[in-house]
Amino acid sequence: MSHAFLDQVAHFAKGRVAAEAAAWSIGAAPEPALYHEAAALGLLGIEVPEEMGGRGFGFAIRAAALEVLAGADFGFAMSLVNTHNIALRLCEVGQDAAAQYLPDLLSGRMHACTALTEPGTGSDFAAIRTTARQVAAGWELEGEKAWIINGRQAGLSIVYAQCAEVGDSSGIAAFLVDLNAPGVTRYAIDSAFSQTSLGTGGFYLSGVKLPHEAMLAAPGTAFKAILQEINAARTYVAAMCNGMVQAALDSAAAYGAERCSFGKPLNAIPRWQTEFEAAQAALMQARRATEQAVEKVAQGADAQLAAAEAKISSVSCAQAQLPRLLQLMGAEGLRPGHPFTRHIAAAQMAGFTDGATNILKDRVARLTARKES
Ligand SMILES: Cc1cc2nc3c(=O)[nH]c(=O)nc-3n(C[C@H](O)[C@H](O)[C@H](O)COP(=O)(O)OP(=O)(O)OC[C@H]3O[C@@H](n4cnc5c(N)ncnc54)[C@H](O)[C@@H]3O)c2cc1C
Repeated sequence: MSHAFLDQVAHFAKGRVAAEAAAWSIGAAPEPALYHEAAALGLLGIEVPEEMGGRGFGFAIRAAALEVLAGADFGFAMSLVNTHNIALRLCEVGQDAAAQYLPDLLSGRMHACTALTEPGTGSDFAAIRTTARQVAAGWELEGEKAWIINGRQAGLSIVYAQCAEVGDSSGIAAFLVDLNAPGVTRYAIDSAFSQTSLGTGGFYLSGVKLPHEAMLAAPGTAFKAILQEINAARTYVAAMCNGMVQAALDSAAAYGAERCSFGKPLNAIPRWQTEFEAAQAALMQARRATEQAVEKVAQGADAQLAAAEAKISSVSCAQAQLPRLLQLMGAEGLRPGHPFTRHIAAAQMAGFTDGATNILKDRVARLTARKES
């Protein structure tokens, strides 16, 4: 059954997403109908239990589906999985929130996001300045979140806020926030790297009032919990980078067989072939690290080291191999109909999401030293 699902995802990625994505890299945004099609396939509920309206698959299928989707467009895949993650979290926290929001999330009518980053802090998560103040009816939130996937259009967010003094990681809690509530103002963040399919944006929270039950993770638990959850995200981002390199290899292979230069196909030129094979070998190596991390996350084992290593390996592979493969395409590779330029931009963004590469390199060094001592 999971094979049939992945075949459907591949068909959707190639037939629908890739075809539309060319326009997203030059400013257009995905049509709502495409999210509804993705929802109908079950992409917004891959790991959501069947009795809650999802597909009930495990993490390995989530990673595999995202790899295929990212081969068509990283941003669209990221947008879907960020909504998926909130749906999954609601199933874990309780019936009321799940009953209220799951139908909209799973059908693609509502986008959702996870908001940690702020204009003043990213890697140093403990330094967030968004505050949650206890009031008689519950909580009041004040602050700003930035660089959030789906931030420009999401209707729902899990927002991390400080309940104690700034810098006290044990004071951070997680809240479920309706982004259509009074006091919330959303905005889009655009950059030269087109981000329309990622939906990147931010929002201001000005005296946003929440009931007591909006607190999903209490101070003392939220900081630790997000550091655990992020291992899954690092692992599927690794798989998505592999998917982008695979798509670029496929495009280059097809072009190399048909384009002639100096009287022979490109792929008959030794230098061209050597470069192509080097990219293939680099991907194979990155995949090995991803497979190990997927296995650990799927088993519920400690995946901190494996996930960090996989993300570093696959992001670095994509950042190095995508430009190399574009070079093999000549000028033709720059056309929006090919995935090279948007995948190169996405690989740079992947180097920031869910833990910046330099931070992860230090984390791996620390964890490895601890393991060896
Ligand atoms: C496209 C995109 C989507 C995103 N989506 C989300 C989202 O959905 N939700 C969310 O909450 N956030 C999101 N982010 C934010 C992302 O998590 C941050 O960009 C990331 O945490 C890095 O923070 P920063 O950009 O503030 O960089 P900084 O923390 O300012 O770091 C700048 C550079 O210095 C390096 N650096 C900083 N401190 C250290 C250190 N101690 N040791 C070694 N190197 C260091 C970093 O590695 C980085 O290279 C997104 C970002 C992007 C670009």
